[in-house]
Amino acid sequence: MIQAPRGTYDVLPDDAARREVLEARAAKVLGAAGYRRIETPTFEATELFSRGVGEATDIVRKEMYSFDDGGGRSLTLRPEGTAPVCRAYMEHGMHKLAQPVKLWYLSSFFRAEAPQRGRYRQFWQVGAEAIGSETPETDAELILLLAELLEVLGVGDARLLLSSLGQPETRAEYRDDLRAYLHAHEAELSEDVRERIDLNPMRAFDSSDRGTRAVMAGAPMLLDRLTPEDAEHFARVRELLDDAGLAYELEPTLVRGLDYYTRTLWEFQSSSLGAQSAVGGGGRYDRLIEQLEGPSIPGVGWAAGVERMLMAAGEQPVGTPLVDLYVALAADGGGAVRTGFGLARDARRAGLQAQLELAGRGLKGQLKHADRLKARYVAIVGDRDEVGLKDMESGEQHDTPAANVIPTILRGSRLS
Ligand code: ATP
Ligand code: MG
Repeated sequence: MIQAPRGTYDVLPDDAARREVLEARAAKVLGAAGYRRIETPTFEATELFSRGVGEATDIVRKEMYSFDDGGGRSLTLRPEGTAPVCRAYMEHGMHKLAQPVKLWYLSSFFRAEAPQRGRYRQFWQVGAEAIGSETPETDAELILLLAELLEVLGVGDARLLLSSLGQPETRAEYRDDLRAYLHAHEAELSEDVRERIDLNPMRAFDSSDRGTRAVMAGAPMLLDRLTPEDAEHFARVRELLDDAGLAYELEPTLVRGLDYYTRTLWEFQSSSLGAQSAVGGGGRYDRLIEQLEGPSIPGVGWAAGVERMLMAAGEQPVGTPLVDLYVALAADGGGAVRTGFGLARDARRAGLQAQLELAGRGLKGQLKHADRLKARYVAIVGDRDEVGLKDMESGEQHDTPAANVIPTILRGSRLS
């Protein structure tokens, strides 16, 4: 039998119901702060990501689904949302609108990663971006909005890790100093860290080797090297989070898999997720639009994984659809079927949730099924002119002309 491709999954009705709740809550939290929905294409020109996300990142080097569009042009299934949103911002001249332009999305993304719990090849993210403002208030607002979203979704245990990356130039200088420091302590480092000093010195901070950890305790820190402007910006962001009562941990070695970040960087982690502990994260990307050959326009934003948020929120009860009216067929003659079919349709048009017997059950089976569906009323339609209307709560049943069924229910029943 053909199965869904590796790393993908089906969203079944109960899952879809949970996702609808998530979407409605995201719309409410972000809408209340003036963020408006945007949807960009599922695929984009490959250069958007190689330039935007960065040639050296894992995403661009190993994880993109790229294909030829038939005309010799390379397209890529979007692996992330920030570069496409910035492309749309430029393409539609949004720099002429009042700034910052505040946008949010809920879309699917694609990465050719090794599938495991919380890691898929097609996954969904809720994301928010504010483009066109450099103020620390914008960073703080976005962090608080993500915290708020996690809270209303029931992700209670999320830890916020916070750092600042400063400018790319500061970072390059810092990396040189870190390399020099690591070379000076080479003998005390584990072999794998030693081998990667020149390639990726930051990795030394993640090592669990005892000798390496001792060396790293004395290593220079990027946070201590920020320019006065960047340090001041970061201090303002922290002040606003402190005032809002949002707890965070300074994590000077926080790195995220996208090259475009500058200044503020953060991630929410949930211990209930196991190895894939990141629920969502974001940062400032003041150089991204320039990298995409646009003007110099700052931005900041975040993305959070839908699957991981749902996992971290745990099993939430899902509401089954209400059924106001179940139309049962007591005769299989054409008259009953036509009356019943019309009745169900009229009921829906009148705003009721109505279902019609579709499986050819006997009357007893139909009543049992209506009970299972928790139908409020059952209309039993036979060959007679009158219809038997049964109130499933009281068990009472009386005969009434078919035309009376809907007005009776509208008068007497719950209306959702
Ligand atoms: P990770 O460290 O787990 O690889 P990341 O740094 O690659 O995450 P981002 O690119 O910042 O993540 O994406 C933001 C969020 O999207 C992540 O925090 C996570 O919740 C979710 N996410 C990322 N990749 C996947 C994936 N392959 N499957 C499911 N969710 C994902
Ligand atoms: Mg990743």
